[in-house]
Amino acid sequence: MTFATLGLIEPLLRSLEKLGYQTPTPVQAQAIPAVLAGRDLMAAAQTGTGKTAGFALPLLQLLAMEGPKVTANSVRALILVPTRELAEQVHEAVRQYAENLPLRTYAVYGGVSINPQMMKLRSGVDLLVATPGRLLDLFRQNALKFNQLQTLVLDEADRMLDLGFSEELANIYRALPKKRQTLLFSATFSDDIRLLAGQMLNDPLSIEVSPRNVAANTVKQWVVTVDKKRKPELFVHLMRKGKWKQVLVFAKTRNGVDALVEKLQGVGVNADGIHGDKPQATRQRALDRFKASEVQILVATDVAARGLDIEDLPLVVNFDLPIVAEDYIHRIGRTGRAGSTGEAISLVCADEVNLLSAIEMLTRQTLKRQNEPDFEPEHRVPDTDASGQVIKKPKKPKKPKTSGGGGKRNLGKWVDSGEVSPPEPSVKPVRKVPVFNTGPRKRKP
Ligand code: AMP
Repeated sequence: MTFATLGLIEPLLRSLEKLGYQTPTPVQAQAIPAVLAGRDLMAAAQTGTGKTAGFALPLLQLLAMEGPKVTANSVRALILVPTRELAEQVHEAVRQYAENLPLRTYAVYGGVSINPQMMKLRSGVDLLVATPGRLLDLFRQNALKFNQLQTLVLDEADRMLDLGFSEELANIYRALPKKRQTLLFSATFSDDIRLLAGQMLNDPLSIEVSPRNVAANTVKQWVVTVDKKRKPELFVHLMRKGKWKQVLVFAKTRNGVDALVEKLQGVGVNADGIHGDKPQATRQRALDRFKASEVQILVATDVAARGLDIEDLPLVVNFDLPIVAEDYIHRIGRTGRAGSTGEAISLVCADEVNLLSAIEMLTRQTLKRQNEPDFEPEHRVPDTDASGQVIKKPKKPKKPKTSGGGGKRNLGKWVDSGEVSPPEPSVKPVRKVPVFNTGPRKRKP
């Protein structure tokens, strides 16, 4: 199968040739003809499967071949993404694919001045990539109109809900024309997302190119158990022992990112961090330097690292386990991309046993544990398995403790609020499905 047999036009084929894409990936093989035929789509595809080209190529073709010329402040196709970095990344891919087409494309996101974006939108844009918050700001300031909108893409839809964008999505949805094509992409598909899809999509074609909620099997995954306070020390030890060259490290909180970066820099390691509190330009610079191998260790929160495409990233380290189990799949999806092999190491302390159990249940595997001599934890991490059970072995009597254990906690529950510190305000682990009001609209004054 070739891109030509999928029905793509010559200007796009030339761009793909320049990029070195020879064969369509499975998600592209299914999505491209369906989108060209005008179908709505609900696609579950892992990160690194080529899903961006799967929706962007046919979308660009439809924009180039059909529909009226874009008018002032209008947009004909809208791609919604959860983060600024992803907006840049998706737009960069779109720009490359559209190189030989007479289309205007642009990306808008928060954290940067809105005025240049308003100026740019004045003459209209064929394809706009946007984060939900900034898109709404622009719409409310009359810098954007949706009357010409023919296609909406929700990329990483599950993540948009995770990040608390349900309200924004519902507001955007209300402002869009009812007659349009909608494509919903997500690396993982929860029941909430299926509910959302039911509200937004019209007779969608379902595409599932990989088993639901299964991490890429090209990634070697293992766990090292350790006491919480010794994690930084263990990290440096493993880094030196394994002669790590380029590592993306995930920490739970912004403070956690800053603290680890400071510790690493303090022992002479070339490290930088990205999180939601940092200005966009600083985040982008750190990322660019990491991609160019000028920074060895990049420490990030989930928000900042979402959707990053870093070529040949060999190793991901979970310094902290994610609070939302599905984030584990996204995190380790940064390595082992497009069929190459990768490694994902998680440093797990006793507090995180329920998070570990949830990950194992979601990915249907028991993660291999490897003890690091001299780092065996004093606070043992109970055994876990893919059934979601935390196996509490009877232990030799120890002096009684006042906190932890006691047999009172519900260990089958994967987020025990007593065990994990609350997430940062911008990271909402609990999904809210937007309720799209189809009745008469109540306008805010
Ligand atoms: P995505 O899953 O969209 O983030 O894509 C992951 C990576 O695969 C990106 O670097 C793309 O440029 C690349 N890619 C996508 N489709 C193809 C293809 N058909 N052949 C080769 N590389 C591809």
